[in-house]
Amino acid sequence: MYRQSDRAANLYNEWIPLTPLEDMERTEYDVLIVGSGAGGGAVLSQLCKQWGANGKKIGVVEKGGLLLPTHFYNIPTYTLPRFRSYFDKVSTPVNQTLFRELFALGGRTLAWQLVAPRMPPSETVSWPVPARELSFYYAAAERAIRVTPYYQEGSYYTSILLDRLHSRGFPHAVPMPIAVDREPTKYGQLHSNAAFSSIIQFAEALNRRPYDLAVNARAVEIITDRKRVTGVRVMSPDKKSYILKAKTVVLSASTFENPRLLMASGIPGRAIGHYLTTHSLLGLTGYFDRRQFPEVLGALGILIPGQAGHPYQVMIGGPPEEYNAYQQYLVKPLQNQLRVVAGAFGEVESRFDNRVVLDMAKRDEYGVPDIQVHFSYSEKDQAVIRQMRAGVRQLFTAMQATSVEQVEGPVIEAIHDMGTCRMGYDPSTSVTDPYGQVHGVSGLFVADNSVIPTSGTANPTLTTVALAIRTADYIIQRLR
Ligand SMILES: Cc1cc2nc3c(=O)[nH]c(=O)nc-3n(C[C@H](O)[C@H](O)[C@H](O)COP(=O)(O)OP(=O)(O)OC[C@H]3O[C@@H](n4cnc5c(N)ncnc54)[C@H](O)[C@@H]3O)c2cc1C
Repeated sequence: MYRQSDRAANLYNEWIPLTPLEDMERTEYDVLIVGSGAGGGAVLSQLCKQWGANGKKIGVVEKGGLLLPTHFYNIPTYTLPRFRSYFDKVSTPVNQTLFRELFALGGRTLAWQLVAPRMPPSETVSWPVPARELSFYYAAAERAIRVTPYYQEGSYYTSILLDRLHSRGFPHAVPMPIAVDREPTKYGQLHSNAAFSSIIQFAEALNRRPYDLAVNARAVEIITDRKRVTGVRVMSPDKKSYILKAKTVVLSASTFENPRLLMASGIPGRAIGHYLTTHSLLGLTGYFDRRQFPEVLGALGILIPGQAGHPYQVMIGGPPEEYNAYQQYLVKPLQNQLRVVAGAFGEVESRFDNRVVLDMAKRDEYGVPDIQVHFSYSEKDQAVIRQMRAGVRQLFTAMQATSVEQVEGPVIEAIHDMGTCRMGYDPSTSVTDPYGQVHGVSGLFVADNSVIPTSGTANPTLTTVALAIRTADYIIQRLR
């Protein structure tokens, strides 16, 4: 008979089917994915879409629990201050740095800001992926996470400021590309999960074919035999170990956890953990005369992509509360002036010295060595920050702001971590080959922000999803 507490725990698990690790130990997986954020969700979704119910075995292990069944913005009580306070509580700083992780099913896609631009071609030309192929996978990623340039359509706020930018020297300013499902609910088909998180991919995959998913399942070791991956050792919160067998393992555990797992498992590679990169971040606020705008404002979302000679991207957002999205339930106060926030991301050089290393003197509760993070700006990065500061002021002048103040930075963009398992041809400067397979270990792949070769200027998630779909297609060919 159920006790009340058992019943509550079971109900809590019922919104997505879970498989006990004891059962997963009895299966040999064709593909085992570690981590369920942007990279892990994209790989799972593509495998399930392409394979259908073909009998291949797919498993996913996720270190975190079932925090939320949807993106935070889809929750009716969402406001920016409530979100900030909640995110601070549920996320974890990486080793006393500003970088933050969210250990939960869905990873950081439960909280991301949904801004999903492509990397500028001037950046990706040096990447080990042919331009036409990358463009094909960007389009696939945009469909997968429902990116739209029409999110602010009809908003005078966006169109007035966009017109001012276009006519005053910024013709490349565009409406912000946002990962939001704009389909209306019709014919009885609900489209209530507007803001994208990887939970949507877990749902789509589930409705195509079965797969095994374990949460609160921390991967602690990658197991290899004669340069071939054979499985992963996973631990439960009660510190019990399980050996999960797999022909293919995909690490999607983030920029910090992937190199940690690789190094702690003794996988060799000069570049593992190195070339850590992100963006530099500068926040400026401009004030506008409210009388220049109509009463119904709408949301503000404008993106000025980086380009040759301008190694920074600027995102411009508006009220309420500095953000380009708000719940319909929010009561907006009448204002005398408008406050517009511009966030600028500067390109950061990929340098060997910026790195994640194991700290053998300290271990976590699972016995895995901790990491130390070493990161600093180069002289070139500082020059980009100076150029960006002047550039954003020019943007506010073009938009006819009455005054401008710097509100943030320069700091590191704490959530755009990339590069610690970067892809490339040369094993001395990269960790994986151009398809995401770790150099020298057959069947071991990486698919998340850590494979992105250089920071460029664009927010990373769309690129991660594009490269992860490509890696999944490669795995499908390989396992034919
Ligand atoms: C507030 C906020 C706003 C953001 N806004 C944007 C934006 O507008 N645009 C954009 O492009 N990006 C944005 N980002 C960044 C975006 O969320 C990340 O780029 C993206 O989620 C990275 O995907 P990932 O798969 O590399 O890592 P994650 O999404 O973090 O997923 C990693 C997963 O691995 C799991 N894991 C870790 N270690 C283990 C282990 N040992 N065993 C098993 N599982 C493990 C984690 O719990 C997690 O679920 C934002 C992030 C935040 C927090």
